[in-house]
Amino acid sequence: MTTSILITGGAGYIGSHTLLEFLAAGYRPIVVDNFGNSSPEVLRRVEKLAGAPVRWHEGDIRDAQLLDSLFEQARRDGAPVDCVVHFAGLKAVGDSVAEPLEYYDNNVHGSIVLLKAMDRAQVKRIVFSSSATVYGEPVSLPYTESHRLAPANPYGQTKAMVETILADWCQAGAGRTAVNLRYFNPIGAHPSGTIGEAPRGRPNNLFPYITQVAVGKREKLSIFGRDYPTVDGTGVRDYLHVSDLAVGHVKAVEYAQATPGWVAFNLGTGRGTSVLELVHTFEAVTGKKVPYEFLDRRPGDLAGMWADPSAANEKLGWRATRTVEDMCRDGWCWQSGNPDGYV
Ligand code: NAD
Ligand code: UDP
Repeated sequence: MTTSILITGGAGYIGSHTLLEFLAAGYRPIVVDNFGNSSPEVLRRVEKLAGAPVRWHEGDIRDAQLLDSLFEQARRDGAPVDCVVHFAGLKAVGDSVAEPLEYYDNNVHGSIVLLKAMDRAQVKRIVFSSSATVYGEPVSLPYTESHRLAPANPYGQTKAMVETILADWCQAGAGRTAVNLRYFNPIGAHPSGTIGEAPRGRPNNLFPYITQVAVGKREKLSIFGRDYPTVDGTGVRDYLHVSDLAVGHVKAVEYAQATPGWVAFNLGTGRGTSVLELVHTFEAVTGKKVPYEFLDRRPGDLAGMWADPSAANEKLGWRATRTVEDMCRDGWCWQSGNPDGYV
């Protein structure tokens, strides 16, 4: 039987790269996005890259009627939704501290509305965008999936809560499947430079800040902290290429189709890179200078964190293949060709 995949938040940074991978793998994706942090232009670019039309609907996952109509339409088209890939949500840690209710409403309430609509439509599979931030202060590194969960901010709490809700949802109904993907730090862009990360306003994250400095939109990078117990005193993260992360979702849907129940997988490379190492690699790959200054540590930041990705390697048959050099080259190709993002 032909089936469809519903992608919530499919116009976003990770969602758009994943949409492309699903199209390339022959799936029938349907996107729902409220364009709160993206625009339909992203989907037009994905269509061009894929050489195929994209089915998409503007709307909010908290709109139960809209979700019912999407599931119903897919059924009437002869390709009912088999699995939901759930990206839609808010993701800025700082904003989540300032506006916690917005985060709980969008990320937690939104996921409940979605699950209820899935129940009504008898859709039993979901792949959820979780985050390494659910682990909090590391007890040991690399994080394995059994590391205790202790999120340190409302954003991380929403991810841990949705994971718990999904565990209870799976427990309550036969054949239900939830694959929770705990992403480490996705950076870079599709190698074509056609789609990429387009943060609104001042970037919160390191990599888009670096590319905006390199393209001349920002004067210099502020490096938060130089006295961490790391290789050079700056914070260490597990950066992975967004296209590798996108492929992980195709693998997760294949896994969900074969294996019922709740499961969590780390998606990372297993390697840590410091802020200075990333800056220097970016400079070497692109030939662009990135001026920087050192500031105090950013409150709430961890010194270092990286993944043990062996469960995803073994059970999903997924492995990150692209290097930090690839991430820098592709991220720069996107930023230099699109200095103002999708505008
Ligand atoms: P993004 O903001 O680029 O994409 C999210 C998309 O969801 C946007 O297109 C936005 O318009 C849409 N959206 C938000 N709320 C919605 C709602 N209520 N209804 C419909 N659409 C809605 O973010 P991203 O970086 O692509 O992240 C995708 C997911 O992955 C998020 O859930 C995020 O928390 C998670 N995640 C991201 C990272 C990262 O570093 N980017 C790391 C770990 C986890
Ligand atoms: N960072 C930095 N300057 C910035 C943004 C981030 O020095 O403008 C550092 C931050 O302190 C951390 C690393 O870069 O050590 C990655 O930060 P990011 O916000 O990208 O990811 P997260 O901290 O959420 O893992």
